[in-house]
Amino acid sequence: MKGVLVILDGMGDLPNKQLGDKTPLEAANTPNLDFLATRGEMGYMDPVRPGFVPESDEAIVSIFGNELISSTRGQLEARGTDLKLTRGDLALRVNFATIDSWKKGNIDDRRSGRTLTTEEADILAQAINNRVKLPVKFVFEPTIQHRAVLVFRGGFSDNISGNDLTYVEGKNKVHNKVIPCKPQDDEENSQYTANVVNEFLEKAYEILDKHPINEERRRKGLLPANYLLLRGAGIEVPKLKLYKKWMSANYMPLEIGFARTCGMKNFAFDYPKLKGLDSYKNLWDGLKKACKFSIKAIKKNHKNFDYAYIHIKETDLPGHDNKPAEKKLMLEYIDKTFIKFLRKFAPPNKVKVVVTADHSTPCKLKAHSADPVPVLLYNDSVIKEKQFSEKEARKGTLGRIEGKELLRKVGFVR
Ligand code: ZN
Ligand code: ZN
Repeated sequence: MKGVLVILDGMGDLPNKQLGDKTPLEAANTPNLDFLATRGEMGYMDPVRPGFVPESDEAIVSIFGNELISSTRGQLEARGTDLKLTRGDLALRVNFATIDSWKKGNIDDRRSGRTLTTEEADILAQAINNRVKLPVKFVFEPTIQHRAVLVFRGGFSDNISGNDLTYVEGKNKVHNKVIPCKPQDDEENSQYTANVVNEFLEKAYEILDKHPINEERRRKGLLPANYLLLRGAGIEVPKLKLYKKWMSANYMPLEIGFARTCGMKNFAFDYPKLKGLDSYKNLWDGLKKACKFSIKAIKKNHKNFDYAYIHIKETDLPGHDNKPAEKKLMLEYIDKTFIKFLRKFAPPNKVKVVVTADHSTPCKLKAHSADPVPVLLYNDSVIKEKQFSEKEARKGTLGRIEGKELLRKVGFVR
């Protein structure tokens, strides 16, 4: 193996009062990241382009050298599950969400409080699959936590908008309002597709809102998962650059779908089920499993591949929830497990290591931002005094990098 690319989702942050005006990465005790940083180079990256606020899929697609197209998300998510897709099938990314009522359409929570258990999601999905009657076939598949995938079978258009006004209007302002899916061109099929999707949404709402699972959640003071937010409509396999000699250890549907679509060999594990109300317990279980699994996957397979892509998702969530101390703890945990392994593994095997993020998710903004992310490249060079942090990375010799140049800049592609 020649190199390992580690993406810590949403790692980038801004100075935070709760951490004495340091970022979580700056405040965290990360001797192993610092070890790698001091024996290499640092820089900072605009994952898509300066000023652009990326979603994870947009960032990953860019970092691997591809142009952005809006229809990619649903397809990649669906390809990260076991669903079989044929051309023309319409795939969408779905969140279980909470709205006040169908009529008013105000979004109370985009993830139903992130307390929907795996079992509840399965039961609700079954109700949707069995009881929503449409003139076309569809499959609704819950994936991890509040996430799901929806596929309509047949010959559809993917030129339709989603139903979350924030994503339709662009992400610079949050609108807590749902809208009907709309055709984005004058084609009859786009109008037809939008009609089918909207009919599905209304019928699904009727079933979800009155479902005993949601009655029970209301009794417990929890948000009902009574609505489905859709985005990223796609009907074709996204055309991505191929990375044949790469392996990956991704475990979320989007990243699995991405790895598969660009020809990597992906090693996945089953994500721990969300059982109780503590979504952070589930996140920590997932994080621990991810670190352990990534070490195992590299140890076992490094002789068969040139590069590995490891994407750790959990670090994004404390940013969305404004939990800087939690984010710092997660970074420390990753440092003393997976990064510690890389520190031992990389030098004798002459492996380069890149650690970066797909975007910043500053705790105080509770959302992704356009702030550049720090990049470290370990290449066993002479020791320079450096600590891996947003601030230090800006002074680094790699300079400012645009996402699509990263892999060439660090020598992972020619
Ligand atoms: Zn992300
Ligand atoms: Zn995020």
